[in-house]
Amino acid sequence: MRSTKKPGVKKPRLGQNFLTDSGAAEKIVDVLGDISQALVVEIGPGKGALTKTLAKRAGRLIAIELDRMMATELRFQYSDNPRVEVLEGNVLNIDFRTVLHRTIGPLSDLRPQKPEPAHVIGNLPYYITSDILLRLFEFNDQFDLIVIMVQREVADRIAARPGTRDYGLLSATAQLYAKVEKLFTLPPEAFAPPPKVHSSVLRLRIAPRFEELGVPAKEFIQFLKTALAMKRKTLVNNLKASYPEEQIRAALKQAGVRPDIRTEALSLEKMAGLFRGLVGLATDSRG
Ligand code: SAM
Repeated sequence: MRSTKKPGVKKPRLGQNFLTDSGAAEKIVDVLGDISQALVVEIGPGKGALTKTLAKRAGRLIAIELDRMMATELRFQYSDNPRVEVLEGNVLNIDFRTVLHRTIGPLSDLRPQKPEPAHVIGNLPYYITSDILLRLFEFNDQFDLIVIMVQREVADRIAARPGTRDYGLLSATAQLYAKVEKLFTLPPEAFAPPPKVHSSVLRLRIAPRFEELGVPAKEFIQFLKTALAMKRKTLVNNLKASYPEEQIRAALKQAGVRPDIRTEALSLEKMAGLFRGLVGLATDSRG
């Protein structure tokens, strides 16, 4: 089949804004704490602004870069460092369970039987921030700490508390999997080429809440998607797409939630109570 691509159309730039402020690079790596015994995964090392410090400090480093030229260059640069492995690949397709516990060189003998969770770090390609986060959450049992730089507005959404303007599905999902802290912000001039936006560093300590909230992960996230689908609509109107109105009203009453509440004002605890009520009611009515 003939390609439909127009000649001369540039391929996407892969979110390539490279950090040039070396002080900032050190400060970001510092957020990981002592990593001398840790396995660290770097997402999108690019020209190696963070990699340089990570390679010196980490017990073991796996850097995943999609850009073939950059991956090749980095692999060459660290070829004499057995603690550094550069993978050329798309982070969204990486099976972390396989990759993190792969045998590499002489270090295989030193690996513990039950490996410690890894840390993740990355100045993320902004065009796929949410997808990367969801991918990392999918493998949440493999990680304990995630330090990422993202567009400031997205950082605000990820860290937003219920009831604030920025709170939504991304905040709720991230906060179901991790304790989120927004740490500091860098101006566009810290990068080349400078992006159009400011960038903020987030620390996420993985601590899934599903058990504590008494909800199954997949189903509850699907419920949140429905509940938070449209911010301007009321909770009842959003949920009506998936549940009979009678059941919604009964579950709201049971969970002690006012029907006219703005959906994004509900805490995860209240959301979980509502979900449990709705599922229970659905089961009851099915007999
Ligand atoms: N870490 C470098 C720095 O701080 O200067 C580069 C950061 S740049 C914002 C994002 C990097 O992610 C680029 O090197 C880009 O090629 C890479 N990248 C983009 N999409 C990717 C993907 N799907 N998987 C892995 N790396 C990706």
